[in-house]
Amino acid sequence: MIHIKPGVTIHRLQPQVVLATHAVDGIYQRHGIIECWLTSGSDGKHRAGSKHYSGEAVDIRTRNVPSQLRIPVAIDVAKALVGRVFDGRHGRVKMIFQSPGNPSLFDIFLHKTHMHVEYDVKEQT
Ligand SMILES: [Zn+2]
Repeated sequence: MIHIKPGVTIHRLQPQVVLATHAVDGIYQRHGIIECWLTSGSDGKHRAGSKHYSGEAVDIRTRNVPSQLRIPVAIDVAKALVGRVFDGRHGRVKMIFQSPGNPSLFDIFLHKTHMHVEYDVKEQT
């Protein structure tokens, strides 16, 4: 079930991100994780230009996901939302799933305490 952490702003959330949050919740359920906490929407402090400010990104808590399940859960989320999986490192981010060359999809960043899910429309060249 989706829970919204008190203080989290959701009024700007884009429908694609709402859909993605439901997908994450479904995958959490499948892995036996009953609570899916939205810990940041368009609120909070993020880097300049962050998709959070335009309602195109959410953070979902992973603290309640057993550590051995975090990567399998993130891979399932990436398969559901991105389709094509790429993993690597980016600064302090442990793992990234992006949709290179694939427009209108999502980027998923697995951080230490949360999963950042971002709707990232890429220009097709
Ligand atoms: Zn985030």
